[in-house]
Amino acid sequence: SLSDRLGGVFDRLRGRGALTEADVRQAMREVRVALLEADVALPVARQFVDEVTEEAIGQNVLRSVTPGQQVVKIVNDALVRMLGGDDPEGVELNLNVAPPAIVMMVGLQGSGKTTTTAKIAKRLSTSSMTGRSAKKVLMASLDVNRPAAQEQLATLGTQVEVATLPIIAGQQPVEIARRAVQAAKLQGFDVLMLDTAGRLHVDQALMDEMKAVADVAQPQEILLVVDSLTGQDAVNVAQNFSEQVPLTGVVLTRMDGDARGGAALSMRAVTGKPIKFAGVGEKLDQLEAFHASRVAGRILGMGDVVSLVERAAESIQQEDAERMANRLAKGQFDMNDLRSQLAQMKRMGGLGALAGMLPGMKKAQAAMDATPGSDKMLVHLDAMIGSMTVKERAKPELINAKRKIRIAKGSGTTVQEVNKLLKMHQEMSTAMKKIKKMGGLKGMMAMLG
Ligand code: GDP
Ligand code: MG
Repeated sequence: SLSDRLGGVFDRLRGRGALTEADVRQAMREVRVALLEADVALPVARQFVDEVTEEAIGQNVLRSVTPGQQVVKIVNDALVRMLGGDDPEGVELNLNVAPPAIVMMVGLQGSGKTTTTAKIAKRLSTSSMTGRSAKKVLMASLDVNRPAAQEQLATLGTQVEVATLPIIAGQQPVEIARRAVQAAKLQGFDVLMLDTAGRLHVDQALMDEMKAVADVAQPQEILLVVDSLTGQDAVNVAQNFSEQVPLTGVVLTRMDGDARGGAALSMRAVTGKPIKFAGVGEKLDQLEAFHASRVAGRILGMGDVVSLVERAAESIQQEDAERMANRLAKGQFDMNDLRSQLAQMKRMGGLGALAGMLPGMKKAQAAMDATPGSDKMLVHLDAMIGSMTVKERAKPELINAKRKIRIAKGSGTTVQEVNKLLKMHQEMSTAMKKIKKMGGLKGMMAMLG
């Protein structure tokens, strides 16, 4: 991953004062390769690297961090910024008009327009999905090219319980759009979603049709739907569409696939418009608000380490962290550490939240899930650790069958539960070693200032 590579480049620089131009340029070569591997379009990668290079040169190297980590953080922050930041309000659709608000979907054939139309309609008409009042939504398909395209939308409409405009054979897109707007007005719909036809390639007939529809419907939102697996080609698509109609946002589909997030950066850079949603599957509830930091993490190949670090910085008291960091640096993780980690995890919103962010934690989570009632389990864990001798706590490998029975009796639990605790300790010890490999908790926290 990029973090590893940068670590290699910079490890020899540890302890130097500031990031020199030569250092930064060398690191940025790695960044550029990582961006291209993540399918960021070449001109976008180039521009990004130029901007970040300028920003990074001359920055002081923080005492307790390796320069590599610091550059990762600078790059990560720049990515999040360029992806539009993490403002959940910023991605909501603009429906603040006299109804009906009109949302038009554009994009190439097969990009996921029709599916996404139904997904958004479902979201808008289900108040529990938006936290806002449920909207009365009408969908209309203007796709007269693809056989049965209008029927496809009608079927999806039935599935998500959203009305679709009755199909009249032989009508052309502009006529259908006009009829849809009229119907939405007359029947008191809050939102009208227009699903348009796509071509396999950008062509002028498609563009002309799209512009004519936009003229008639005057949509508040024109969303460009792009397949995130398109990679390098996505840029040309986005450029073409954004030159022809005033896009208001982008939806990236198939983020559930092997997408490494590069298309997101390209889209944002080329259109200058926010990425409003991400499609994460074929099912009609598999649409998510776009999260810049998650995608930045994907591009850097470092999972959600940055958010893990941020959560940790918020919740762990500095002394605890220092103490822990010192112990981790020595490769130590005993039952006392487990006990204090459990207490911290409780403060941080449970092991579950952490488990999603760090690969090694998943196993610990599984061990915990195996026992019903996590809260009760925390109490049991505390009791079991309390029943251990000082020696056992410091050296859990001492705990043999006989000792297990004693600990179980002393804590009012079972040998099975003691085994689970030991397994959990082992899993966490492994996870902690991973954190250490990433520069240690202390280093990670110092990065955040
Ligand atoms: P259109 O031609 O742009 O209208 O594309 P469709 O909506 O018909 O979608 C084409 C195919 O992509 C369908 O099989 C969809 O189920 C699938 N699809 C759409 N969005 C997603 C997504 O986010 N993830 C996955 N895995 N498949 C998707
Ligand atoms: Mg379609």
